Amino acid sequence: MEEIMSNCYLKAGDLYVNYDCLIIGGGIAGLQAAIQLGRYKRSVLVIDASWGRSTICRSYHNILGWPDGVAGHKLRELAKQHVAPYNVNFHYGKVMEAEKNDRGFTVTDETGNQFSGKCILLATGVMDRLPDLPGLLPCLGLTVYVCPDCDGYEISNKKTIVMGAGKTGATMALTLTYWTDDITYINHEQSDPGADLAKRLADKNIAYVNAPIKRILTENEWEFRGVELAGGKRLDADRGFVAFGGNKVNSDLAQQLGVERLENKHILVDPRTKMTNVANVWAAGDVVAHSELVTVAMGEGSQAAIWIQKKLLEMDRTDK
Ligand SMILES: Cc1cc2nc3c(=O)[nH]c(=O)nc-3n(C[C@H](O)[C@H](O)[C@H](O)COP(=O)(O)OP(=O)(O)OC[C@H]3O[C@@H](n4cnc5c(N)ncnc54)[C@H](O)[C@@H]3O)c2cc1C
Repeated sequence: MEEIMSNCYLKAGDLYVNYDCLIIGGGIAGLQAAIQLGRYKRSVLVIDASWGRSTICRSYHNILGWPDGVAGHKLRELAKQHVAPYNVNFHYGKVMEAEKNDRGFTVTDETGNQFSGKCILLATGVMDRLPDLPGLLPCLGLTVYVCPDCDGYEISNKKTIVMGAGKTGATMALTLTYWTDDITYINHEQSDPGADLAKRLADKNIAYVNAPIKRILTENEWEFRGVELAGGKRLDADRGFVAFGGNKVNSDLAQQLGVERLENKHILVDPRTKMTNVANVWAAGDVVAHSELVTVAMGEGSQAAIWIQKKLLEMDRTDK
């Protein structure tokens, strides 16, 4: 038991453990919560599918202490080092099912591994709908962005291409005029932006291209230089933004547990405790309804962990 409760990687068939807390999602919110709970000396299992915003963003730009940016994978690696002395375990897999029972909660991953815990924190995030364009992934966060609050500054006075779909892309292009006057909007999926948005694009001198993109043009793999359209025409630029809409909010497990969600599938939580409407189910990070930023995800992870500890202390007293 001693070995399994140290910072190890669990496999199917390992000893049965009822963790103090299961954290589903080992991104920014989940890892920050694991640090906090680890320091309360709680037994924690982080289960992570290894594909999320913090695995694809190669530079975050608005984080205290990292003025030159920091990659998502670097923060994730540092968090794992940080929790090494604590009772925090990791399992890599995708949780497909979650149920409430007399132990607390049991979750099952895609290969049938099951894990139980007294409490559960959903930190499963959101995944952007990205086009399958050669050259795109290595640029994300470095020279191609998704969020104006995070990276609008990065395109200041720079020639910028917005790659998008219909109204979502048009709205992003208009938003970005706060930062630069040199914008081309490529409506890659050619869905209709509507007459009103089309007029507003024209009024703001945003060049409009209604054609599919074939590939991203880069230098050194990650320096965006523009795009090649399906017809072979090349458009050059210094920076890119993607805005396709239809992002996937990873809240299916919340639905299975009876957790209240908004129409857009983001989870509702108590603003103070981050607990959902279902007892002992917490949620933090992008999957919760709010602005989708690293610093917010970190704050929520900590806040949820503080209230999870309060609940675990109550449980400790009742168990005696
Ligand atoms: C290109 C890009 C640039 C960005 N730039 C910035 C920036 O400069 N500044 C900033 O503040 N923010 C930025 N963001 C946003 C930032 O990445 C998110 O706010 C942050 O990652 C949210 O953390 P999270 O823990 O909620 O989700 P994530 O980091 O996405 O982590 C969620 C984790 O949950 C896992 N998961 C999901 N479902 C399951 C399941 N069923 N079972 C097991 N695991 C599961 C995923 O695999 C993932 O690892 C950017 C995002 C992108 C995509």
